[in-house]
Amino acid sequence: MNNFDEITKVVQKNNNFLITSHINLDGDAIGSELALYFILKKLNKKPIILNQDRLPKIYNFLPDSDKVHYLEDNCIYPKSIDVGIVLDCSNIERIGRTYEIFKDIKTIINIDHHKSNENYGSLNYVDCSTSSVGEIIYELIKSIDTDLLDERISTCLFTAIITDTGSFRYSNVSSKTFEVASHLTSNGIKPYLIADNIYNKNTYAGLKLLGKSLLTLEVDGSNYFSWLTITRKMLNDTNAKDEEIEGIIDIATTLNNVEISILFRETKDNKIKVSFRSKGNFNVNKFAGKFKGGGHPNAAGCLCSGKLDEIKEKILSELLNDIKHLGCEN
Ligand code: 5GP
Ligand code: MN
Repeated sequence: MNNFDEITKVVQKNNNFLITSHINLDGDAIGSELALYFILKKLNKKPIILNQDRLPKIYNFLPDSDKVHYLEDNCIYPKSIDVGIVLDCSNIERIGRTYEIFKDIKTIINIDHHKSNENYGSLNYVDCSTSSVGEIIYELIKSIDTDLLDERISTCLFTAIITDTGSFRYSNVSSKTFEVASHLTSNGIKPYLIADNIYNKNTYAGLKLLGKSLLTLEVDGSNYFSWLTITRKMLNDTNAKDEEIEGIIDIATTLNNVEISILFRETKDNKIKVSFRSKGNFNVNKFAGKFKGGGHPNAAGCLCSGKLDEIKEKILSELLNDIKHLGCEN
């Protein structure tokens, strides 16, 4: 793995930067992108943020959120990009269709916290002991100059950290995470306002979708895992947007005694996106790997092609098999 000095040297030597992250943007991806964007601006560089997907509405409150471009908004970027920076992606395919642009960039900096990271960059900084990429960006900025951490950057990094830790509830939280959060808070940010923007902005349609989704909740015979299903029809009937699915699986995860929760959902392009969460030792990253997915030990996902019922059947029977094999049925 490369170190911060090597990354900073490449930053100093170059001018045009294209920053991206994974499809289905989350708070860690966006908060880290914007924090990095602000730092590069402060260093008199020319950064542009470009993702495959559009910024989910709940993140509009972030400073300069209109700088988070997506492929279809036709933002103008220079023909020749010096450096591409890929955040929070375990493999390069995770950036989706922006790969068409990134494949031609000579220098790629890969910054991530997924254990399964494939080190696809020219420079790779992967630290899976951190809660989020936001925590890594914080350290990177500190290694350059702590005074660079202003209120805007702190707001973005705090957002990255609280969203990737489920507001400090997941197993990826360490004393370091609180130290970073504490330092960011001392820079004038208001955690309750950030939390209010992220968690208290549900729409009527989004809550209706949540209600319908919870009605699909099923639990296996031994009460070890649960699953939810969201179809296109449910999204159409409620008028909810795809981005409003975010967070629904976390509610299923609160079910007492259930170790693993799964969400099956039909995507706009006729695929089946599966999300996995686990509360204990069952490694959902490994499990998702069986279906060409990945993630973290307690939160992972995969994207499958095929019919919803068939994929459900395949994944649930594989899980049942694994659990029997592990002898960890309740
Ligand atoms: P979510 O279920 O919220 O989409 O994703 C949970 C975690 O799994 C995130 O860390 C995300 O990066 C990872 N993840 C989700 N889907 C995929 C996938 O299709 N491939 C890989 N490699 N990781 C995924
Ligand atoms: Mn992350």
